[in-house]
Amino acid sequence: MEIVSRFAPSPTGRLHLGHAFSAVRAHDLARDAGGRFLLRIEDIDGTRSREAFVAGIEEDLRWLGLHWDGPVMRQSRRMITYAAALGQLKAMGLVYPCFCTRAEIAAASASAPHGPEGSLYPGTCRALPDEARATRLAEPHCWRLDVARAVARTGPLTWHDDQKGWIRAEPLAQGDVVLARKETPTSYHLSVTVDDAAQGVTDVVRGTDLFEATHIHRLLQALLGLPTPLYHHHGLLTGADGKRLAKRNGARPLADLRAEGADPAALLAALRAGQLPVGVGTAEV
Ligand code: GLU
Repeated sequence: MEIVSRFAPSPTGRLHLGHAFSAVRAHDLARDAGGRFLLRIEDIDGTRSREAFVAGIEEDLRWLGLHWDGPVMRQSRRMITYAAALGQLKAMGLVYPCFCTRAEIAAASASAPHGPEGSLYPGTCRALPDEARATRLAEPHCWRLDVARAVARTGPLTWHDDQKGWIRAEPLAQGDVVLARKETPTSYHLSVTVDDAAQGVTDVVRGTDLFEATHIHRLLQALLGLPTPLYHHHGLLTGADGKRLAKRNGARPLADLRAEGADPAALLAALRAGQLPVGVGTAEV
């Protein structure tokens, strides 16, 4: 089977070394096997995404020598597709509207259990009677997945991680995640799952920071009848402070390195070897 991988950045800034590291790994996994490497722009967040960053990301990847196949997928143009997927889940009775504000959730979560990403949604709106739900639909609301009900429907699920082998999906640990936000008819979890299937992605390469999210994606695949790719969660580059490489701890934008006259071929080789330019940080892979 042909290997298809993708790089899926959000255009909320220029690419830095951490992004480049992830892009190289996804690119090489496919290309080394004669497969395809795709680019998808995850621009569902209309307030933080910028066209200039989309162009910048493409420019940075080209400069680095990473070329993608076919047209670039833009999530902002696929809202109808996400709405259809959400509609499928609505018809199955597995999602519910949530009217809670951030402050209400924070107050209610103080005593609620915590998951891998912090406090879990305490389930307030899951318990709303149908009538109250119907009358409140005119208010701003997001849509949440009723994870317990969804799991009862699918039964046990597994997915494969190249480092850890077969993993039992544990989506309950994440609580009732948001599938469509108040301000946009989708969310990261829903669109990434739908699009990996739509693009025929066989191998998802991304950082370990998204490891837990995969439990939710596996559940959504089962519910929506989508195939399950193989997963490769790579270690994250760290800054001088030992924390995940980000702007605040020295992640250099590729555009800056380029302006300083850096040699892209040497940088690419360093990223492949897990070695960063001196003084930037060390790879933890
Ligand atoms: N768009 C996500 C990000 O910028 C990555 C999504 C993924 O690789 O699944 O972190």
